[in-house]
Amino acid sequence: MEIRKDFFTGRASMDLQESAGIALFRASVREFIARLVPGDWQGIGALGPTGRRDFTARAREALAERGWVAPTWPAEYGGAGLGPAEQIALGEELVRAGIPTGAENDTFGISMLGNTMLQHSSPELCRRFLPRLVSGEYVFCQGFSEPGAGSDLAALATRAVREGDRWVINGQKLWSSSAHLSNWMFVLARTDPEASPYKGLSLLLVPLDQPGVEVRPIRNLTGETHFHEVFLTDAVTDADLVVGQEGQGWPVAMTLLNFERADTYVLMPIRLRDELDRLTDLIVSRGLRDDPDIRQRLAWCHVQVEQLHCQSLRLATRLAGGHEPGPQAAVVKLLTSEYHRKATELAMDVLGLDTLTPTGDPSPNWYYTDDAGAPNSSASWTSVYLNARAATIYGGSSQIQRGIVGEMLLGLPKEPRPRPAAAP
Ligand SMILES: Cc1cc2nc3c(=O)[nH]c(=O)nc-3n(C[C@H](O)[C@H](O)[C@H](O)COP(=O)(O)OP(=O)(O)OC[C@H]3O[C@@H](n4cnc5c(N)ncnc54)[C@H](O)[C@@H]3O)c2cc1C
Repeated sequence: MEIRKDFFTGRASMDLQESAGIALFRASVREFIARLVPGDWQGIGALGPTGRRDFTARAREALAERGWVAPTWPAEYGGAGLGPAEQIALGEELVRAGIPTGAENDTFGISMLGNTMLQHSSPELCRRFLPRLVSGEYVFCQGFSEPGAGSDLAALATRAVREGDRWVINGQKLWSSSAHLSNWMFVLARTDPEASPYKGLSLLLVPLDQPGVEVRPIRNLTGETHFHEVFLTDAVTDADLVVGQEGQGWPVAMTLLNFERADTYVLMPIRLRDELDRLTDLIVSRGLRDDPDIRQRLAWCHVQVEQLHCQSLRLATRLAGGHEPGPQAAVVKLLTSEYHRKATELAMDVLGLDTLTPTGDPSPNWYYTDDAGAPNSSASWTSVYLNARAATIYGGSSQIQRGIVGEMLLGLPKEPRPRPAAAP
């Protein structure tokens, strides 16, 4: 089958030095893609809202059939039993072709929770949950942050009390992304109030479709309602739905957060390279290619994206070696999110007053770039610019990432935990 060259070429610098086996696997992915997309395919961003939704659902179903929604998981859990190097090759090919690698909540269900369960849960619990994550029957969101616990996650106050064969949970979760699309939430809760803040936590799997759960949307500065407050009032879940051991919620949560940081950032430079091409086109179309300030900033962006390719290759190599992402994920998360704020600020300066009356469709993504193939519209850039600020906060703020780099990679002494404010 002839493969269209325009979306498979020109990004070769990201490739790992790979074996013949991986090259063959890449060829099979390209055949899969060629069968999935129409002949005039430009990337999912070129489709309208309904077309995007339909294509994403169709692509996810086709990926799930091959176990490619969770490629490294064993076949009995709905995966394809691939090695990490094949997983990375698969992700690269899909992203380059402008094909979604899954549905919106797969970041939570597959990348974060599923991968963490494989490390910390019994085969019985994995058998019960992982295939349903792949099929899309169970759709998860993340319940970590609370009004008084974000960066200082161990200060969380949500309580889970064991009553017979179930947990009874009370508390409030905050900023829960895509909770409106979910039917389950993984909830970090305090199960032992007598233990030290880091020791008395457990990660519970909680169904959302029950009277004790209320999900309220929060409107963000783009006008969208992607994240939510979730109120848990005598919400219940089965006693055995604990990821890892009871009281071991902190190390389990740290594994999960590292998967969150690593998952997105390994493939992000490919998306950013595509976005930088769009930015360059925008600059040219606005007659600003001779502007010295714009040229300097664009050159800086190019260097950053090249550097990000190298950093993500280091992380990819670590994953390909079968290791957990570890604190190295903080480096890539920090560099990527800070870069993206500056790159999108450049787009705002290029668009000038047009940013006040944006035209076209805003990006449907609440994180990072618009999709491959998206038109170079002021509405797309403005929404991406506003969302870029969020990426330096979610998954752990930039300041927290710098703390991780200092303490865990450079071996600097631990920062003292802030003392609670004295009562007035
Ligand atoms: C778009 C978006 C989506 C999100 N989705 C989810 C989700 O799905 N589920 C979920 O549980 N949470 C989610 N969050 C919440 C996110 O994890 C928190 O916002 C983040 O951890 C920061 O916590 P906070 O907002 O309470 O800020 P705070 O912790 O109050 O921080 C305020 C400021 O102080 C700084 N700071 C705090 N502590 C330190 C320190 N020790 N050293 C240096 N600086 C410090 C921070 O960097 C920040 O600049 C999301 C957030 C955003 C923006």
